Amino acid sequence: MEPADRARAAGIRSNRLPDEAYACNFADAHAPLTPNQALVESDRCLFCYDAPCVQACPTGIDIPSFIRKIATGNLKGSAQDILGENAFGAMCARVCPTEVLCEGSCVRNLQEHKPVAIGALQRYATDWVFDRAVQVFARAPETGHRVAVVGGGPAGLSCAHRLATLGHRVSVFEAHDKLGGLNEYGVAGYKVAGGIAQREVDYLLEVGGIGIRFGQRLGQEIALATLRQDYDAVFLGIGLGAVNALELEAQATHGVYDAIDYIADLRQSAALGALPVGRSVVVIGGGMTAIDIATQVKRLGAEDVTIVYRRGPGQMGASGKEQDWAQTNGVRIKHWSRPVRLLSTDGSLDGVEFEFTRLDDRQMLAGTGERFKLPADMLFKAIGQLLLRDSLDGHAELLDTASGRIVVDADGRTSLPGVWAGGDCVAGGRDLTVEAVQDGKVAARSIDQALRQAQSAGAHHG
Ligand SMILES: Cc1cc2nc3c(=O)[nH]c(=O)nc-3n(C[C@H](O)[C@H](O)[C@H](O)COP(=O)(O)OP(=O)(O)OC[C@H]3O[C@@H](n4cnc5c(N)ncnc54)[C@H](O)[C@@H]3O)c2cc1C
Ligand code: SF4
Repeated sequence: MEPADRARAAGIRSNRLPDEAYACNFADAHAPLTPNQALVESDRCLFCYDAPCVQACPTGIDIPSFIRKIATGNLKGSAQDILGENAFGAMCARVCPTEVLCEGSCVRNLQEHKPVAIGALQRYATDWVFDRAVQVFARAPETGHRVAVVGGGPAGLSCAHRLATLGHRVSVFEAHDKLGGLNEYGVAGYKVAGGIAQREVDYLLEVGGIGIRFGQRLGQEIALATLRQDYDAVFLGIGLGAVNALELEAQATHGVYDAIDYIADLRQSAALGALPVGRSVVVIGGGMTAIDIATQVKRLGAEDVTIVYRRGPGQMGASGKEQDWAQTNGVRIKHWSRPVRLLSTDGSLDGVEFEFTRLDDRQMLAGTGERFKLPADMLFKAIGQLLLRDSLDGHAELLDTASGRIVVDADGRTSLPGVWAGGDCVAGGRDLTVEAVQDGKVAARSIDQALRQAQSAGAHHG
């Protein structure tokens, strides 16, 4: 049998659902607030002094201030409060795990067991300026400084945008032919319906001073040494390009997929029905990627989808709300189990054997020896990503790294003079969009300060 025939026989096929079901399954997961709902919700805010929600926001948005402006009808001012701290305020309103950030610490949880819907209000205010093409940013006069930003994801564009507003000229070098990084290629489609990722990028570029070079991959078309020579500063926001390998992968040639690649195809697909989907799907992993691939494959028509995670619900990278979301979508989550063998016929996957796990006396993960099998014609690896070291073209040894990621100080400076970094490619973060945006902003402030100091030192010497 040909590989394609085998895959079909195993149950992997396209168009599992009627055409109209795809649009419905990938429509906006949450309806936006109506003007009346926004007013009612903004009225629930207590405008706390030293507000805990602000402390919990990685970008430090003045949340009571933007909510008060919604309550008084000043939508532009509200969006200014948001976007001034978080250039990706519209995306973050949709994708932030607010339940563990701002909304998780809202004092209304204590009084009414229900936080102020900060994310929904943030979306309301930012959509208002986008829908009316009201620009809240203006660019400062040209400084004459030139900065190279590598990577056009949330970290890179946040840095580029902040630098541009401060008057610097920025060149963004992006490996793909679209900007947005995982906002465009990763985040689940139903969180970002209506092309919001590109609308937001377009809005940010409107400020001017940012040139984009597509198809420019650091380590291939461009070299860090050249950028350091040609520009006054360099920011690396290259995310994580490599994917962890599953040791068992070689045991089946058909049916094992990388979740990130599949999601990227899904996000870029104009015809969702064309995507191949199995009947019984197993996802290995416990983070947001595992939740997203499982839920999306279920919404593409897979009959049985099971996430299998080697530890308990509390250790999953995905929040409780995200786990609930997957389960509400009909995804099963099995904890304390790890894959030990792929079962296949003629190289095509037909099942996975797992071993139950537990913590031993030293709190290390150990197998219990008991095993079980799950039928599967499709298996997704969602077990984390790695920094693609080839991107650092010979500088990998010069840059300090920890756990395979770039080490930076509190201002985003790497160990290489003149080079800053932020987002998923740096060590110590939680791999969230909002943190990537904050890293880009912090680095931009530091780069700006360094450039101005160098200029005034030069003027003194001159
Ligand atoms: C499937 C998935 C779902 C997610 N869902 C959420 C969510 O719902 N909420 C949330 O907060 N976070 C989510 N995240 C995490 C979030 O997307 C990331 O934390 C965030 O995008 C990191 O931004 P970044 O700019 O550091 O990297 P990226 O978004 O990865 O952007 C990096 C950019 O650099 C480019 N690039 C890479 N290498 C090179 C190179 N060598 N040369 C030039 N350019 C290069 C890439 O093409 C890309 O455009 C999700 C992640 C995944 C994988
Ligand atoms: S904690 Fe809640 S009530 Fe207090 S300012 Fe923040 S959103 Fe408003």
